Amino acid sequence: MNNFSMAIHGGAGTLVKGLMTSELEAKYKAALKEARDKGYNILEQGGSALDAVQTAVKSLEDTPLFNAGKGSVFTNEGTHEMDAAIMEGKNLEAGAVSLVTGIKNPVSLARDVMEKSYHVFLAGDGAMQFAKGLDYKIETPDYFYDEVRYKQWQGIKDSNSFQLDHSVKKDGKFGTVGAVACDKDGNIAAATSTGGMTNKKWGRVGDSPMIGAGNYANNKTCAVSCTGSGEFFIRGVVAYDVSCLMEHKGLSLEDAANEVIHKRILEINGDGGLIAVDAKGNIAMPFNTEGMYRAYKTSKGEENISIYK
Ligand code: ASP
Repeated sequence: MNNFSMAIHGGAGTLVKGLMTSELEAKYKAALKEARDKGYNILEQGGSALDAVQTAVKSLEDTPLFNAGKGSVFTNEGTHEMDAAIMEGKNLEAGAVSLVTGIKNPVSLARDVMEKSYHVFLAGDGAMQFAKGLDYKIETPDYFYDEVRYKQWQGIKDSNSFQLDHSVKKDGKFGTVGAVACDKDGNIAAATSTGGMTNKKWGRVGDSPMIGAGNYANNKTCAVSCTGSGEFFIRGVVAYDVSCLMEHKGLSLEDAANEVIHKRILEINGDGGLIAVDAKGNIAMPFNTEGMYRAYKTSKGEENISIYK
């Protein structure tokens, strides 16, 4: 039997000073633990990495603490436009959605794109038509409402700027969520889900739903989910870059992930982090910000939940 492992993130960066209290920190950690354990239990019972990452991401989407699903940031028009992707390393199957509204769990819609359509990536109205065709319930905007994110949006809605979740500072908190897993059969998978950036407009799409940029999985190398300034992660083709360094340069998971986050992405001024697993169950979680909401658990008995460095 293969070692199995589960890792999740709730976004790189940290809350603006003064916003984080010990009570809030405990809430974040409890939400991370719940999501991680739901995914890990699936692996422990012999379930697939694909089911584990979808389940963990759904759990994170369902809490307003993170910028994905419930609690997604507001667009310039006061709506929520969400992006998600999922990928299976066994056969390079993938599904992604972008600019969807009213969908409680965008990661599940991404999986349905993968399994129930001939396509990989559906966006906007078309993605919504696809969801309606599968009888998805469309939630009203109040389901996604979160007061903190509403206030963030109020602060900048009349300007031309857009903002990463929780801060205008470069080292703000990105609230995207993601999961990677390696199952008992040595199959790996990755899933990522986000509300994007506060006050975004013009149909802005970040790295999260883009296969190869914010999300990627290949049994030969690794499964990766990213968080950070999406524009830079797209330009750096970050998730696939980690895979390429392993495949073509023979780097270990840890070395490849570090090279990308602590060198390559910094060279183009990108900030953020990623979580990654390989098919042996090894985990890497580098970030170049103050912190990254993260948790992992392995069949070797290692586990951790942390926020700061
Ligand atoms: N990468 C996400 C985006 O640019 C933001 C995040 O990680 O929170 O949409």
